[in-house]
Amino acid sequence: MLKKALEGILSSQESEELISAFDQIGNIIIVRIPDLLLPKKKLIGEALLKEVKISKSVFYQASPVEGDFRTRNLEILAGEDRTETEYKEFGCRFAVDVANAFFSPRLSTERERIANLIQNGETMVNMFAGVGMFSIMAAKKKKCTVYSIDINPIASKLCEKNIELNNLAGKVISINGDTSKIIDAELQNIADRTLMLLPEKSDEFLDSAIKTTKDGGTIHYYSHIHADKKSDAGKLSEKHYLDVTPVKSEILASKIVRPVGPRYYQTVVDVKISK
Ligand code: SAM
Repeated sequence: MLKKALEGILSSQESEELISAFDQIGNIIIVRIPDLLLPKKKLIGEALLKEVKISKSVFYQASPVEGDFRTRNLEILAGEDRTETEYKEFGCRFAVDVANAFFSPRLSTERERIANLIQNGETMVNMFAGVGMFSIMAAKKKKCTVYSIDINPIASKLCEKNIELNNLAGKVISINGDTSKIIDAELQNIADRTLMLLPEKSDEFLDSAIKTTKDGGTIHYYSHIHADKKSDAGKLSEKHYLDVTPVKSEILASKIVRPVGPRYYQTVVDVKISK
């Protein structure tokens, strides 16, 4: 359908490239456009807006996610210049702001995996929670308590809104601030499960993750790993974790979450720690 919309604007190889770099989030479309196609970006935006019936806005992603808040620069190509929308996933409703707080629809499989691992009665600390995607899904699916921490005030406000939208008051607790300071002040030895979804800084925050996790608890340690062979990425990330961890750890599992560049993978290692 999209290919058809872009016929006459792009060659079929150009539209293949473009479509793999296309995300639809509620009524917003975000598209990454290769440099060579940038002169046609407005035409591409208008074609996408016309073809994807429920879309109200098309943005060009002009930068990768960056900075402490892991946000990206978006440039309006067609439609309304509004970056807030509602996104639905596995029966949960999420208010998101695609420009001002981190959000990725590409992590849905990992969100479901984590929610499935949680046991009823658990406490989870989500150290880098964004708008609370993992937190809300976990608490919607299982009887658990989730501390959902983020340093970005807009992300924490949206998380509060998402708690309301999903009727999870008291089950998900949104806390705004630096995760290491919050853990030091109020969340030591509390978590059966700790989520560290800030792969670029996992090593820097590993001590905080260990502090918040109970003896025998599980840490989900995310990282970015270079691997010449895709099949090696999981094992390489296990090795990296074991090289940097200061505590006795049993590896429960490891896997690729998603590719993030040529021969680069976002991986997760699930570990049970002993303190
Ligand atoms: N887990 C969320 C998700 O998947 O939607 C968000 C993950 S995003 C890659 C990382 C988040 O960590 C961002 O929302 C950013 O604001 C937050 N962050 C960065 N440094 C932080 C810190 N020191 N303490 C708490 N949150 C932090």
